[in-house]
Amino acid sequence: MSDHGSSCGCCNPPAGADTSAIRERMRQVYGPEELPGRRQFLKALAGVGAAGVLAGCTTSDGATNTTADPTETTAEPPGTTATATEDGVETLSGTLVVGEEMSVTEGTVRIEDGEIVSITEEGVESDDIIVPAFVNPHTHITDSTAKDGERARNYSWYELFIDPGLKSEINGNATRAEKRQAMIETMEFMRASGTGTFADFKEEGVTGIEDLNMADEQTAVEAVGLLTGAIDESADLQAEIENADGYNTYAPYGEQAERAREICADLGKVFALHSGEPNADDIDASLALNPDYTSHMVHTREQDYQTLSDDDIGVVCLPRSNLVILDELPPLERLHEATTVALATDNVMLNSSSMLREMEFTSKLFDVTVTEVLQMATINGARLIKRDEEIGSIEEGKRARLAVFSTDYELQNVVDPIAGIVRRATARDVERTVLY
Ligand SMILES: [Zn+2]
Repeated sequence: MSDHGSSCGCCNPPAGADTSAIRERMRQVYGPEELPGRRQFLKALAGVGAAGVLAGCTTSDGATNTTADPTETTAEPPGTTATATEDGVETLSGTLVVGEEMSVTEGTVRIEDGEIVSITEEGVESDDIIVPAFVNPHTHITDSTAKDGERARNYSWYELFIDPGLKSEINGNATRAEKRQAMIETMEFMRASGTGTFADFKEEGVTGIEDLNMADEQTAVEAVGLLTGAIDESADLQAEIENADGYNTYAPYGEQAERAREICADLGKVFALHSGEPNADDIDASLALNPDYTSHMVHTREQDYQTLSDDDIGVVCLPRSNLVILDELPPLERLHEATTVALATDNVMLNSSSMLREMEFTSKLFDVTVTEVLQMATINGARLIKRDEEIGSIEEGKRARLAVFSTDYELQNVVDPIAGIVRRATARDVERTVLY
């Protein structure tokens, strides 16, 4: 039986033939042999590296287990998983999405002192689905005091951000204490929706970075603060970048942007930009600065794909933001062919900071696999913010930063775990975001 409605063209079988239609589709994937049980299905999925094959085509356990291996017929109890065995040691079991390639397997992750020390493939009782905690590389959480983003539809991009600057007007009415508290609440929501790390294009210069560093100390979610230039010329640019995690600025670029680019390179900090959002006017100047990544690129021109590829400039795509402000979408598939693409949620005033929602939109709007979408929400973002050696995937030696999803609610009966997380999971399904 299909567990979702008539809108799914890929697994919407004729009346009375539900099971056979789905089984036929499974045969197309696996060949004529015995159809796999749920656990074999997951292992096979990982083995062929094709978690996207059944994107959007989720079937119930009942459908796939009808011909399951006899050893797999035991009903599994609802998942509860985390076991603290001794000080500093924790084990988590379930369906694991492992490595940068996002291979699906069943097993146990062992954590010691916040580090993943082993991943054991084994049969487990838990039905939980465990993925890397999401990485959101482009936010503006200062806007947490102005959650009336849909108003943006009534304003042009220029009215919203430049003239008269509706955004500044709304935020300007909040006190510093109110802004700090609102930012902390946004970060708590990020955690509740599975996000572990975000990069904020932090407005308000040096003061903004101070606010973000303060919020960062109070939550387990990790803030990567990008100082927004141009900052006051009297400030010590190098010292201010050292106090942040990087720098970002907007066109037209001045001499400070070039200096900041060099300082970031020397210090290993992140240098990121916006470009090609309302139009293509700032793309040449942006790419000439060779940023670690730029953002939006809705108006990418033909020649830009080659530059992005040659200079290894990553792109953060923000489809929901582009829909709200511009009624347009980025050429995500082509950008993805050219370079590393990550997803992000943008201003809190425009959109909820849930990466789950960004993934669902992306998966349903663009021709990319669910595995690629999950990578865009995890390892790709980690790479753009230069932290892929420590976060963004479940691997031995990395920090244990994981999102544990229950299958008791919306993900009940989901067979393809990656499609389930990407296309239908909500914050309610996040049992726990483990953030060491
Ligand atoms: Zn932005």
